[in-house]
Amino acid sequence: MGPYHPECPERISAITDRLIASGLDAYLYHYTAPPATREQIARAHGASYIREVEEASPESGLHFIDPDTALNPHTLEAARHAAGAAVLAVDLVMRNECRTVFCAVRPPGHHAERNRAMGFCIFNNVAVGAAHALAAHGLERVAVVDFDVHHGNGTEQIFSGDPRVLMVSTFQHPLYPYSGMESPAPNMVNIPLAAGSGGEEFRAAVRDAWLPALEAQRPQLILISAGFDAHREDPLAGLKFVESDYAWVTRELVAVAERHAQGRVVSMLEGGYALSALGRSATEHVRELLAA
Ligand SMILES: [Zn+2]
Repeated sequence: MGPYHPECPERISAITDRLIASGLDAYLYHYTAPPATREQIARAHGASYIREVEEASPESGLHFIDPDTALNPHTLEAARHAAGAAVLAVDLVMRNECRTVFCAVRPPGHHAERNRAMGFCIFNNVAVGAAHALAAHGLERVAVVDFDVHHGNGTEQIFSGDPRVLMVSTFQHPLYPYSGMESPAPNMVNIPLAAGSGGEEFRAAVRDAWLPALEAQRPQLILISAGFDAHREDPLAGLKFVESDYAWVTRELVAVAERHAQGRVVSMLEGGYALSALGRSATEHVRELLAA
């Protein structure tokens, strides 16, 4: 996204370094994400939008396709691999090769709408994964859970009104992208949180709204838009989550997956910009996925 930008390559090394330091890394299987094919991306995005991104990819320098979202010469390739991680992760859990998968990918995806890049997001990785589970594996009920501090407007726009996909989310409001105050369709469960809210408010939202909706849907697969920017140390927002909140919600989601989805959970990195807090939070999230 350019120099000194919070959505930076060091985010991934903050996570991988912390996984190594924690000792968890030795228990993980590592996979390299293949690029998603155009057909896989086109399940979540319009063909003309995909072409627009391809044509906007610069030979050098930065090209802004949205006021917040730039392409450098390597971004398109990275975005294809980030979406491809979702596809591979879904294949791994559906083939029973893994029970749970965490995808440490950039760029993030949940702001990308069907025909629009937004908020550092080019392709909507979690939506590509959900659409792959429906189209390629024949699932009938998939849940997308989004605990990023920002509302996942792109995922909502792509699946709003699609009864096969339940989306439950919490996010700070008002905050970018200033959407999500109303649920546009019954399959969208949006819980806005006021600035300053912490684990107590988050856990109440999960208990009172997310878990009943998930129990009613009985998802065959849970996908997580795992943004860690609701952490109290994050510079981009004003919620006060801590590592134990991410561990708690992960345990709750794993329990739902064990009841209904044969334990299948695919988690995709979204935001999280305080590097140390990001590494610690993602590590506690992975620890609970690994314990599943
Ligand atoms: Zn975010």
